[in-house]
Amino acid sequence: MASSDDKPCELCELIPSTTWYAEYDEPFRFTILDCDSCDVPMAVIGKHKSSLTEEESRVVQAALGKIADEKYPQGWVFDDNMRQIPDHYHIHARPYPPWWKKP
Ligand SMILES: [Zn+2]
Ligand SMILES: [Zn+2]
Repeated sequence: MASSDDKPCELCELIPSTTWYAEYDEPFRFTILDCDSCDVPMAVIGKHKSSLTEEESRVVQAALGKIADEKYPQGWVFDDNMRQIPDHYHIHARPYPPWWKKP
């Protein structure tokens, strides 16, 4: 988790300040919680790395999808665009905006 600059990684030092939905240790460590800035569920992996294998992202997306289905029965979408913290993998589940027409 040490990075080259001296700013600690926010996602390595997750503080449970929002709703935590689930924590997993198997098959690897990740947490699903409400994103502090977006207020939507997101999954954060327990390791400081920027990408997942296909298998790993399947596991994370399945777990996050279950929570998103319950929270947003009207529809939602994965958003793995990592704008603020590009080097620590995390993925949001965002609800469709009210004007969205489902495909
Ligand atoms: Zn990190
Ligand atoms: Zn966010």
